[in-house]
Amino acid sequence: MPTKIDGKELAQKIRNGLKEKAAEYKDKTGRVPGLAVILVGEDPASQVYVRMKNKACEEAGFKSVVDRMPDTTTTDELLARVDQYNNDSSINGILVQLPLPKQIDEKRVLYAIRSEKDVDGFHPVNVGLLNIGEDALAPCTPAGVMVMFEEYGIELSGKNVAVLGRSNIVGKPMAALLIKANATVTVCHSRTKNIKDICRRSDIIVAAIGKANFVTADMVSDGAVIIDVGINRVEDKLVGDVDYEGVFSKASYITPVPGGVGPMTIAMLLSNTLKAFEKTF
Ligand code: NAP
Repeated sequence: MPTKIDGKELAQKIRNGLKEKAAEYKDKTGRVPGLAVILVGEDPASQVYVRMKNKACEEAGFKSVVDRMPDTTTTDELLARVDQYNNDSSINGILVQLPLPKQIDEKRVLYAIRSEKDVDGFHPVNVGLLNIGEDALAPCTPAGVMVMFEEYGIELSGKNVAVLGRSNIVGKPMAALLIKANATVTVCHSRTKNIKDICRRSDIIVAAIGKANFVTADMVSDGAVIIDVGINRVEDKLVGDVDYEGVFSKASYITPVPGGVGPMTIAMLLSNTLKAFEKTF
């Protein structure tokens, strides 16, 4: 019987642990980790994400700042705001919610965040550190997947892993983390030939392409571990990149959507904020 990896439960466990640590730091030092989230404009999905991040921070006893800026904000105005938090010692993590309005130079803004406060792990310094196998603030979603492997005792060393997707947010950092853990990684993307064969040869598949039900039972070897990062809306339902029903009986471990990787992302954002905070001592 395959094991369903319960991301919701695991994320809650991590958040409870972070809450305890924040309380200990508060007792001992009078300080708590602080996260500033900057939201530019009125994008409805971004508003929901920012509310969730704020709530998670408050529940963990972290300082939480949500800074809302109008959708007419210029790059210079946003850079000035980032700089304000760069220089604020009560803020350990800065997150600029994406997507940004078109007039804003996204790269300039993301690269202006001090790498020590880059809790999204998008700054080239953190990307570089991650890729040379050094300690880095790693992007939250793939970092969350790594915690799932660890918690469920899933061995990575020497395993063949297919990572579907090569985005800077998920696919590439996922591959870097897996390589660091001694897995043999094949990164697939829209130009990859024979994805089916690559998947069939893999012990573990991490799907992050944003195509509903892309990974089907015929692509999965018996006993494979299936991690579904995808979030797709189909007829008002959220589904992943994996045909969960079809693949379930072939897998040894599988993440559902929703309730799999999704909840881990916010838990790892808090975890990165605590890590950034701890480095200030
Ligand atoms: P993205 O930036 O759109 O990247 C998608 C990647 O998939 C690209 O590398 C693309 O290849 C590849 N791809 C697209 N169609 C393909 C196909 N038919 N065959 C093989 N590869 C294909 O997306 P993302 O930001 O990485 O997100 C991926 C999925 O994860 C989305 O559903 C997103 O909503 C979800 N997500 C979930 C979380 C979470 O917390 N659970 C967090 C982030 C993202 P090319 O590079 O060649 O274009």
